[in-house]
Amino acid sequence: MSTSTQTIERPEIREDLGNDQDVPKFFHYVKKDQIVDSAVSGKMVVALCGETFPVTKQAKPGSPVCPDCERVYRGLRKK
Ligand SMILES: [Zn+2]
Repeated sequence: MSTSTQTIERPEIREDLGNDQDVPKFFHYVKKDQIVDSAVSGKMVVALCGETFPVTKQAKPGSPVCPDCERVYRGLRKK
């Protein structure tokens, strides 16, 4: 099974939290064909955990990954 996924960043909805703290960002697993499709059509992508968001940038190595996505991703790989 060739599950091709990639982590991409979910764009943050900026909320004024009243401080300059850097909130850790999670990256979600999204299927590559969805990323390509979204880049062409501008559609939202659906992450493995169910989050829906527009594609922005790809994760850098070592970026924190959404725990829900991670779980689903591991489950997929087992099959
Ligand atoms: Zn996720």
